[in-house]
Amino acid sequence: MRVKVTMACTECKQRNYNTMKNKKNNAERIELNKYCPFCNKHTLHKETK
Ligand SMILES: [Zn+2]
Repeated sequence: MRVKVTMACTECKQRNYNTMKNKKNNAERIELNKYCPFCNKHTLHKETK
């Protein structure tokens, strides 16, 4: 049930985080507000393939 997903910054499109998600709990694409070292601030990160 748990799958590995990559989180990409929505501003610079850099892929900054790898995380695990539970498909049962998060069937939709997940969005997280995380720190982006490229933007030097917190930005919205979205799940990518
Ligand atoms: Zn960024």
